[in-house]
Amino acid sequence: MQNSITPQAPPLKLLIVGGGTAGWLSALMLAWHFRQQPWVHIELVEAPDIATIGVGEGSTPALTRLFRQLEIAEADWMPACQATYKNGIQFSDWSTIPGYQHYFHPFPSSEDNAVLPEFFRQVRAAQQGQPNDAHPDSFFLQHQLAITGKAPFCADHQIQLQYGYHFDAGLLGQCLKKIAIQRGVAYRPFKVTDVQCFADGAIAQLHTAEGATLAADFYVDCTGFASKLMRQTLGSKFHRYQQMLPNNAALTIATQAESHPLSQTTATALRHGWCWQIPLQHRTGNGYVFSQDFISADIAETELRQHLGLSEQEGSSRLLKFESGRLQQHWQHNCVAVGLSQGFIEPLEATALYLVQQTVSHFLLHWQQSQYQCRGELVARSDYNLLINNYFDRVADYIVLHYKTNSRSDSDYWQHNRKLEFISPELRQLLQCWQSGGDLPALLAAKQLEKYYHAVSWYCLLAGTGYLPERGRLPEYSRQQLPAAQQRLQRWQQLAAWCPEQLAHLRQLAASNRLVTP
Ligand SMILES: Cc1cc2nc3c(=O)[nH]c(=O)nc-3n(C[C@H](O)[C@H](O)[C@H](O)COP(=O)(O)OP(=O)(O)OC[C@H]3O[C@@H](n4cnc5c(N)ncnc54)[C@H](O)[C@@H]3O)c2cc1C
Repeated sequence: MQNSITPQAPPLKLLIVGGGTAGWLSALMLAWHFRQQPWVHIELVEAPDIATIGVGEGSTPALTRLFRQLEIAEADWMPACQATYKNGIQFSDWSTIPGYQHYFHPFPSSEDNAVLPEFFRQVRAAQQGQPNDAHPDSFFLQHQLAITGKAPFCADHQIQLQYGYHFDAGLLGQCLKKIAIQRGVAYRPFKVTDVQCFADGAIAQLHTAEGATLAADFYVDCTGFASKLMRQTLGSKFHRYQQMLPNNAALTIATQAESHPLSQTTATALRHGWCWQIPLQHRTGNGYVFSQDFISADIAETELRQHLGLSEQEGSSRLLKFESGRLQQHWQHNCVAVGLSQGFIEPLEATALYLVQQTVSHFLLHWQQSQYQCRGELVARSDYNLLINNYFDRVADYIVLHYKTNSRSDSDYWQHNRKLEFISPELRQLLQCWQSGGDLPALLAAKQLEKYYHAVSWYCLLAGTGYLPERGRLPEYSRQQLPAAQQRLQRWQQLAAWCPEQLAHLRQLAASNRLVTP
């Protein structure tokens, strides 16, 4: 075995430790990348007695694109994972400003091209204090699909819609495992107990509780929060987001499935945090995300039960603790960390699997450059770590903005979040630009920040919560009377009528299912 990855000298062995969603997605991405190189052996080991985290039920459109690229058809996994469609996220009660208590954050569609110039113009005017219809809800088709529970397919109208998924995380893990094994990934139910390193610090071999010794050319740490290889063994430092994102716990309770589920995630602000509601085919996932620095788990449970209308006896709760932050180095020596082992930004906007994808795909790119394009591995590693840190930090900026712009005053929690001073220089500049009536899309483009969140997303959040000069806010009633808003709504309703109801569409998909359910 070499102590660094050397694709020129087959065979090559890549060892993934951890079989959660991050582990199996990594396995599938690696298997796909090396599909023409049969000398590359991919193996995954997973501790049989350490459960996966079992949450993480929402995605962004990046997962949809990845599954297409990996040739994993919706019929192959959606029915098996009780999955539903996600057209975006409904934010409720983050703002107390009349007419701005709710807004929808849509995923993009080809119809956006027709409305974006108007949306941008009106938001800019409102931002500068001229009364205007700057609320996003009437501008985007996806909102109409979400609230009518439609699947994102307007085939008759040639409209391209981007969408994400909701799924049962445990079932998705099993399904991905099955597909990965079919595609040649070797699987061993082994628990890594000890890691030995070479003198230069690279990983030499792993010992397992079952008595096996495993060695590879490269290791992928997908051991979840344990971060067995990267933090525990290689000592990669952790950069905490605690000062800007104080949430550190989530309490989950599942409720019955809806008979007509909306095709959206709902993120409702409660007194000391926010609650997700994710409609699946067989149940609705609910979770209250809060900070134990502000309330106890008992108080959180009482609040969540009240919100869901559940008595103390109904539904069992589960408490999960987490730390928001990321590694300073995601790739060290012959090891890369992927998933919770590399960090976690709290679940608002459901970005964790998106970051898994970015981590793996950029790793392959950088590693290949270092091997084939005479680029030193040290340089590639350092560039890569900087890039992935940027992904985490810029996504975190967008999450922080939800808290920073809240207008609630019902608890210390919300006031504390509004007054947060520990925000990044990038977010500070964005906020200054917005508050001074400046050109936010131009700033995002100049700073190359659009690849993390597009201007539409920033505008939806800032305008949707009414974070505008008071005179720029047009009352809800007046907005609804505007002929342009009525015309748009009419068009969205017509188009939504052309889209299939999602449960009916999913039943059809199940009927065409090619894979045996896990
Ligand atoms: C409250 C909450 C809500 C979330 N919501 C979302 C969401 O909506 N959308 C989203 O994209 N993400 C979400 N996430 C994140 C998401 O759950 C994870 O990113 C995803 O499940 C991947 O987890 P993982 O595979 O990194 O870790 P895990 O699921 O914890 O898997 C770890 C694996 O490592 C194995 N392991 C551990 N130690 C060893 C060892 N010593 N030897 C061998 N194997 C070992 C375990 O057996 C397990 O298989 C959420 C997370 C939390 C906490």
